[in-house]
Amino acid sequence: VAKHLEKFKTTIFTQMSSLAIQHGAINLGQGFPNFDGPEFVKEAAIQAIKDGKNQYARGYGVPDLNSAVAARFQKDTGLVVDPEKEITVTSGCTEAIAATILGLINPGDEVILFAPFYDSYEATLSMAGAKITCITLRPPDFAVPIDELKSAISKDTRAILMNTPHNPTGKMFTREELNQIASLCIENDVLVFSDEVYDKLTFEMDHISIASLPGMYERTVTLNSLGKTFSLTGWKIGWAIAPPHLIWGVKQAHSYLTFATSTPMQFAAAAALRAPDSYYEELRKDYKAKKDILVEGLKDVGFTVYPSSGTYFVVVDHTRFGLADDISFCEYLIKEVGVVAIPTSVFYLNPNDGKNLVRFTFCKDEETLRSAVGRMKERL
Ligand code: GLN
Repeated sequence: VAKHLEKFKTTIFTQMSSLAIQHGAINLGQGFPNFDGPEFVKEAAIQAIKDGKNQYARGYGVPDLNSAVAARFQKDTGLVVDPEKEITVTSGCTEAIAATILGLINPGDEVILFAPFYDSYEATLSMAGAKITCITLRPPDFAVPIDELKSAISKDTRAILMNTPHNPTGKMFTREELNQIASLCIENDVLVFSDEVYDKLTFEMDHISIASLPGMYERTVTLNSLGKTFSLTGWKIGWAIAPPHLIWGVKQAHSYLTFATSTPMQFAAAAALRAPDSYYEELRKDYKAKKDILVEGLKDVGFTVYPSSGTYFVVVDHTRFGLADDISFCEYLIKEVGVVAIPTSVFYLNPNDGKNLVRFTFCKDEETLRSAVGRMKERL
């Protein structure tokens, strides 16, 4: 394997999902729903296939999807973007992240990450030859240590790669934090790459896109996807939104990474994004009920549960159960209890920082969540 990938192992999600199958454990690890996406979106995909929309799509997205993304973004943020000049459709948000990094970052550029961070960020930054500076968000509220961020910015800092609502913690960046990050970026001429794939799964406050703050659109790439909002994580439809001078780099990287994305799924994605408000309200309500079952259950089991205001994840402190670290706790949980969680140390540059925390997902039907809680109550 090439040097820049040497230190990376099989992703934790792949490892944990195969252990789940091997041990017949309930999988509250990898974040994929165990229920299906909406009928009207599946119908739209079938229709597009039948209508012969089966050859290469236009590289940066079928026009119908670019328009639907722009309309949705305007509804969410008030920003009016040109669907032809400011949007690139990709194969999931993971590709959008990669295309953004490979298209806009030079070897040696510094990029700031907030730990814990989604695992693909570090690997893709490494592929681009970027230098990573990491700021750790700490429990209980995972607030942004703004002074640390300020001192981490140097003349070589090219971008901050952030994620709100935040995987794995469920933290949502507050308006105050976003304002502070924004002024640092403007002052120091730093870009923001903002991964917002959980923006529709919010329970306590409204999501804010940093691109919508004054002076920020011109320096922000906003990244999103279909998978979480429509319970279709296997479709791998994502996109990047940015002003023309930034989207050009993203589009160029995308052109040579995958060239284009599945054509019929893009037509269906456009139909999905035109869902009425009631769809989004219903989604939030369903997830709130699931979250309550899991969070109350985990508290009953005896975990210290950190508040999650968005995403379909919650992190807990496992230390009172007496296992050495997050990895040994998760192994015990799979083998002796029959439940899968994700150890969080893989989301830190320094694994020690995550050794007390594990992540559970609640994107499962209520019965599954109840039986997982039941097993933990009985066997932990
Ligand atoms: N984003 C999902 C998670 O954090 C899964 C991603 C993956 O499997 N690579 O669980």
